[in-house]
Amino acid sequence: MADLHMGAESETFAFQAEINQLLSLIINTFYSNKEIFLREIISNSSDALDKIRFEGLTDKSKLDAQPELFIRIIPDKANKTLTIVDSGIGMTKADLVNNLGTIAKSGTKEFMEALQAGADVSMIGQFGVGFYSAYLVAEKVIVTTKHNDDDQYVWESQAGGSFTVSRDVSGEPLGRGTKITLFLKDDQLEYLEERRTKDLVKKHSEFISYPIYLWTEKTTEKEVSDDEDDETKKEDEGDVEDVDEDKDKDKDKKKKKVKEVTHEWQLINKQKPIWLRKPEEITREEYASFYKSLTNDWEDHLAVKHFSVEGQLEFKAILFVPRRAPFDLFDTRKKPNNIKLYVRRVFIMDNCEELIPEYLSFVKGVVDSDDLPLNISRETLQQNKILKVIKKNLVKKCIEMFFEIAENKDDFAKFYEAFSKNIKLGIHEDSQNRSKLADLLRFYSTKSGDNMTSLKDYVTRMKEGQKDIYYITGESKKAVENSPFIEKLKKRGYEVLFMVDAIDEYCIGQLKEYDGKKLVSATKEGLKLDETEDEKNKKEEKKKSFEKLCGTIKEILGERVEKVVVSDRIVDSPCCLVTGEYGWTANMERIMKAQALRDNSMSTYMSSKKTMEINPDNGIMEELRKRAEADKNDKSVRDLVMLLYETALLTSGFSLDDPNMFAGRIHRMLKLGLSIDEGDTAGEDVDMPSLEDDANEESKMEEVD
Ligand code: ADP
Ligand code: MG
Repeated sequence: MADLHMGAESETFAFQAEINQLLSLIINTFYSNKEIFLREIISNSSDALDKIRFEGLTDKSKLDAQPELFIRIIPDKANKTLTIVDSGIGMTKADLVNNLGTIAKSGTKEFMEALQAGADVSMIGQFGVGFYSAYLVAEKVIVTTKHNDDDQYVWESQAGGSFTVSRDVSGEPLGRGTKITLFLKDDQLEYLEERRTKDLVKKHSEFISYPIYLWTEKTTEKEVSDDEDDETKKEDEGDVEDVDEDKDKDKDKKKKKVKEVTHEWQLINKQKPIWLRKPEEITREEYASFYKSLTNDWEDHLAVKHFSVEGQLEFKAILFVPRRAPFDLFDTRKKPNNIKLYVRRVFIMDNCEELIPEYLSFVKGVVDSDDLPLNISRETLQQNKILKVIKKNLVKKCIEMFFEIAENKDDFAKFYEAFSKNIKLGIHEDSQNRSKLADLLRFYSTKSGDNMTSLKDYVTRMKEGQKDIYYITGESKKAVENSPFIEKLKKRGYEVLFMVDAIDEYCIGQLKEYDGKKLVSATKEGLKLDETEDEKNKKEEKKKSFEKLCGTIKEILGERVEKVVVSDRIVDSPCCLVTGEYGWTANMERIMKAQALRDNSMSTYMSSKKTMEINPDNGIMEELRKRAEADKNDKSVRDLVMLLYETALLTSGFSLDDPNMFAGRIHRMLKLGLSIDEGDTAGEDVDMPSLEDDANEESKMEEVD
């Protein structure tokens, strides 16, 4: 190093711990797919060029130091180095220190975990640590860089825990940009071969929108007469070869054939933007290759939509749906979206927030507008009417694309697994497209079996006379499919949808209805089923006879419940706890409790006002009624009511406020069942609340009452 930058003071920095771990993993683990390093370096160059081009749009002088925008690749067999130069934005000294070693991105750890779980190294770019892939093939890397705002600096590292940064006092000035020199490992010299590099660029970087030049060597044969020969030798340093066998031909002129080695920059990528071509002339492979270079994804896209809008406003766009959700799909720190904005072929910016709504942030692609001004800035974008129209169109096309995916069952299953949360978020946020998006929803239900059902299919299965669509929310399919809330509905043959994704609560809260049919929660008040006269009369009778018990239970439970009523929805269970039509469900209460930063004021008025519904046909309730009527203050009535309340909390999806108290009650019941005398074992049950505790609790309750 000393010989390269003599005179400059070099500072040594330690790699941040996780980056260091990543480097060891890259260097010491066996990966066969090392070639992706070039794609990563080129992709960084392309990003850097995008940045300076954007700056240059509003301030031309930013380009002065190097007006041409390019990427150049220089193989050097003599020194076993591969060098990639770009005229991008470059890095200041601080950038070098921060971006290449001391500040770890969130993806560093995630990528290592993914690797250990069997992921492929080629995924590295998606995790935002692509630069380090250089160490797949290089034992040493030198980065020379010049940013408009700083001097030229050199970064150098052989991994091993540290890197150095020094001012470049003796190196060739770059003007502006970055030069990355890879000192290839001895078994990686294939990347110095022209053919290999060309193929790699074609495979991974064909759609980079800047010219990529390769420094190539060309050998030509040239006829020279003897006296010219010496000069040629001097000028071109070419190999000279006597061509004796040709002598008889050229006997008279005494000419010689000379091999001449020349070098030239060869353009090795096509840069005609793919979106300008006709969709019918583009193969799936070409789309895939473009998609990969756009996104750093290692897999092909799941779906693509290539279209142009003409008329008052003109733009072309290609949108892609990936096969998987990225690791940071809902990470709020990450950039808002993945649509690149171009204006008349010139890249303007990526993640322009005005281009596509947040719920579609997983869609990737490009938009090329003919109408926007080239010098548009982030500030002026916000009020831009053209962008609003583009956005509307993009959303429309995205949804069309999702419906196209839905035509293939397997593809849609993949899509739904990865992005159903986004669709649901869309239903929550995008009132204009809400009903269309609702057609993409899929749920398990009491009748769906192993496949999920759409709302549309649900409607076709609705029973005669069924007006509403029924659903139950909860933690899992298992937790809801045998819930007491849906007993009556099931008995009547009504299908109930299982909404077991946390976001379903939010989504359904906005959707409210589908195809003119109300979405009705099985766990909330207001579930009314049609009845015959006979049924109605019977119910009224039952209600009357249980009225008194309802009052007694309310007295015992006090503030724990809002009211106690005879139920319409349960068939087998003795009772359940329903929540108000507009308040949170038990499931929502669970979700909100799990959110550390929830707003507490919200929970006081939204948190579930519980109504206990009792089942008059259940034997326990009948017995309870008899006992309560005989003696309202019967201790066993109190105990039973508490136990019923607590079990109902559990079966209705709430959590227990005091599990120990509940366990104590159960244990006492067990002892009763096993005919164990309380006195015999009192000393052993230290964990269990003693009867006295419970007596206290009861007297507390009496005070409340
Ligand atoms: P990512 O490209 O996802 O940000 P990388 O590990 O590939 O992650 O690159 C790390 C950072 O290093 C980049 O974000 C950029 O700031 C900087 N960088 C890398 N290569 C260049 C380059 N050729 N020109 C300017 N900056 C670069
Ligand atoms: Mg990168």
